[in-house]
Amino acid sequence: MEQCILVRHLAPLRRLQSSRQQTLAQSIEEKDGTRKAREVLVRLGLDPTQEDCVATHRICQIVSTRSASLCAATLAAVLRRIKENKGEERLRSTIGVDGSVYKKHPHFAKRLHKAVRRLVPDCDVRFLRSEDGSGKGAAMVTAVAYRLADQHRARQKTLEALKLSREQLLEVKRRMNVEMQRGLSKETHALAPVKMLPTYVCATPDGTEKGDFLALDLGGTNFRVLLVRVRNGKRRGVEMHNKIYSIPQEVMHGTGDELFDHIVQCIADFLEYMGMKGVSLPLGFTFSFPCQQNSLDESILLKWTKGFKASGCEGEDVVTLLKEAIHRREEFDLDVVAVVNDTVGTMMTCGYEDPHCEVGLIVGTGSNACYMEEMRNVELVEGEEGRMCVNMEWGAFGDNGCLDDFRTEFDVAVDELSLNPGRQRFEKMISGMYLGEIVRNILIDFTKRGLLFRGRISERLKTRGIFETKFLSQIESDCLALLQVRAILHHLGLESTCDDSIIVKEVCIVVARRAAQLCGAGMAAVVDKIRENRGLDTLKVTVGVDGTLYKLHPHFAQVMHETVKDLAPKCDVSFLESEDGSGKGAALITAVACRIRDAGQR
Ligand code: ADP
Ligand code: MG
Repeated sequence: MEQCILVRHLAPLRRLQSSRQQTLAQSIEEKDGTRKAREVLVRLGLDPTQEDCVATHRICQIVSTRSASLCAATLAAVLRRIKENKGEERLRSTIGVDGSVYKKHPHFAKRLHKAVRRLVPDCDVRFLRSEDGSGKGAAMVTAVAYRLADQHRARQKTLEALKLSREQLLEVKRRMNVEMQRGLSKETHALAPVKMLPTYVCATPDGTEKGDFLALDLGGTNFRVLLVRVRNGKRRGVEMHNKIYSIPQEVMHGTGDELFDHIVQCIADFLEYMGMKGVSLPLGFTFSFPCQQNSLDESILLKWTKGFKASGCEGEDVVTLLKEAIHRREEFDLDVVAVVNDTVGTMMTCGYEDPHCEVGLIVGTGSNACYMEEMRNVELVEGEEGRMCVNMEWGAFGDNGCLDDFRTEFDVAVDELSLNPGRQRFEKMISGMYLGEIVRNILIDFTKRGLLFRGRISERLKTRGIFETKFLSQIESDCLALLQVRAILHHLGLESTCDDSIIVKEVCIVVARRAAQLCGAGMAAVVDKIRENRGLDTLKVTVGVDGTLYKLHPHFAQVMHETVKDLAPKCDVSFLESEDGSGKGAALITAVACRIRDAGQR
């Protein structure tokens, strides 16, 4: 690619001020420089000797050679920088030059060219004299600036749709509140997208729990089996051992029996690995999919999400499916005490540290929240006294179209190509599984319209999933230079200019910021509802949070916190990161249930 550098050469000869003197100085360097020197010196009213003339000629040579060399050195630095920026082996570049010294001095140009080529041998440099650079140039710069400004405006117009105003966010909060009511109420529950599912978790840990528990964590990025040792008294605390198992794609998309046999096979492997073969322990099952729970240990899967598709599971109790698989294997028995959602596990884990923790939030592959609701509002369960944790399944917010005025064509495109089109619309605007895809769709749109990557769509850019959400985090990292952004894009097979990388970074910022703000608007609805439930002017509450996007993205957490503070000013909200909420949480809920059961038996 040719690169044009405009150079105006004036400065080094400033000492020879008037143009008359300048012209004289130039002619001094002609072949018979000494003779010319004499003429000039005489014209200046001097009476030079032969030595004076030789010396004057020599001085002129030295001054103008130094000037050409200095100029060449600076140009070489500029060329090297451009070459580095482009990451090219050889740079081909054209330098546009204007200025009388360059054009009229008999040797200046030649010396400059030679010195530049010597200093940057890995660049093919061409020098082009500009005709009236300042006049014509201004017009050209203006034309280019207009084109760039047009492109900038076009991109901003697109990004504008992804920037939500405070009023819009308040509206999202208001609509979330409406949808929460509809999910809680018996009459509207069946058709409500935000399901507000009762979890039968009514108590948080009180520190007296103890024992060994097994936990399963299914529904996150990894499937894990855990052994959790809970201690009370002076040695109060939780000790965990876990092992990650993969669930092959064919098992995720096979039959339910195959899936649960695989799970039990992993448990058997884990018990053997821990040297506990044949031991029977109470088990908590973190099952992070929307379920209709009928008791702590009965949980009907409503719908698979997040890429799972195993047949014959929707509408079934996952505890029964698990128990049947255990019986089929006839190797060990397990007491399945509790099925929990990862949000509930997260709330419980943080509740173990902080009694104010009454909300759980996940922002990882998917997004969801739970909180302690008054029993009188949980219409699906009998009883008016006390509170129960409600799994909101807020990812489905908007599935009835109530967010359509905030969704962009990019959200629609990502949704349509997903495994569950039309569902989990809020989640698809917020969580790790989708943000990268939103960014990729915007980049494709920009490129198609000639606003990015010089209008050339690479095969890589057309590939679904190349833009993982972790790249958003990396690109947005404050300590990253643009060159490193370009390295990331290069790694993704996308060749970018410096301007391209600025644009990509801006797209990432806008998409992640919107996600954090939407999440904050939802959370503001939750904490304000808790406050209103209790008729309080102000509420102090802690939200337990888990999820890689929340934990690792450089700005997500802060933007989300600010949004909650802004939209729910009467709540004093703290955020506590859970340490392995889905694993530890399942064990803690199991421990609490065992404590309550044991107390009842006594
Ligand atoms: P899960 O929600 O499945 O339990 P995690 O909380 O570990 O899992 O989240 C995994 C998701 O986090 C991935 O889908 C990925 O999109 C996203 N992710 C991974 N690394 C990063 C990162 N560095 N920054 C932001 N998001 C990330
Ligand atoms: Mg998780």
